[in-house]
Amino acid sequence: MDEFCIIARYFAPLASEGAFGLRDDAALVPTRAGHDLIVTTDAIAEGVDFFAFDPPDSIAQKALRVNLSDLTAKGAEPAYYLLNLSLPRSVTEDWLAGFADGLARDQKTFGLSLLGGDTGAIDGPLSIAVTAFGFVPQGKMIRRDGARVGDAVYVTGTIGDSGGGLAIFKREKHTLNDADRDSLIAHYRVPRPPVEFSGPLRAIAHASVDVSDGLIADLGHIASASGVRIIVNGEKVPLAPALRALWGADALLRAVTAGDDYQIAFTAAPGLTGPFTRIGRVEAGEGVSLMLGAKEIAVPGPGYRHF
Ligand code: ADP
Ligand code: MG
Repeated sequence: MDEFCIIARYFAPLASEGAFGLRDDAALVPTRAGHDLIVTTDAIAEGVDFFAFDPPDSIAQKALRVNLSDLTAKGAEPAYYLLNLSLPRSVTEDWLAGFADGLARDQKTFGLSLLGGDTGAIDGPLSIAVTAFGFVPQGKMIRRDGARVGDAVYVTGTIGDSGGGLAIFKREKHTLNDADRDSLIAHYRVPRPPVEFSGPLRAIAHASVDVSDGLIADLGHIASASGVRIIVNGEKVPLAPALRALWGADALLRAVTAGDDYQIAFTAAPGLTGPFTRIGRVEAGEGVSLMLGAKEIAVPGPGYRHF
């Protein structure tokens, strides 16, 4: 199959109305009155963000969802995406069908559709770049630079599960039961950004970031953009029982530096309750401090770095 057959068979059924069945040079994005268009892009690569033996539908879902967490953090609702594929020449029709099926399911779950993309062959590892588009009411994008002294710091979901899954793939020794092991691996393969939370987040957040490189590293981005200091109370960081079982006494430090969470960390007024956990506060100063009780814990590498 050449790339035109691949596009027509597997991707055209996913196309948005403005994509003209993926038979034109470009797509048309209808604007939405009273809204700003928010754009983000993230690529995932075999051997770095997923493994060649991962199921193709979960690879597709991960490629999409690592972008949806960025839109969510900005308070945007997903609408469209572009898909750039560098495929090994050995790719099979079964793999492509599974991949397209993962996209189709997530399009339905999260309410977005495909605008277009590019398809090429590569003598090397599979790489998938997605550019996602979402809408926010005009002027309401949540930025990293809005944290204020006196804010509380909150995070959605649990932290570190995906890092735990990756550790298991990397053959780290463990004594987990099958259910706990599978749960951590599932988080690594298919992240669960709280996409439905973008609206409520807009109503409360002063600053927001998606947790992709590690909780401490990503809170560091809010701290530096906002010119504040962030205190994280380690005992408040939500950790799944499976992760505590995997990492024991190391669970906290490893979880807050692991990355690949795709949850949302944000600052807002203290005293709020909702689908999130309060983990700290914003003070005057700079940087991020991880505390256990009154004691500050040294964080060796706050997050994942490519270079
Ligand atoms: P061009 O020759 O201008 O580069 P292409 O032949 O690459 O155009 O693409 C033809 C059409 O197919 C375009 O609408 C493009 O957006 C779409 N397309 C190509 N690859 C993909 C893909 N991986 N996913 C979605 N749409 C794609
Ligand atoms: Mg092209």
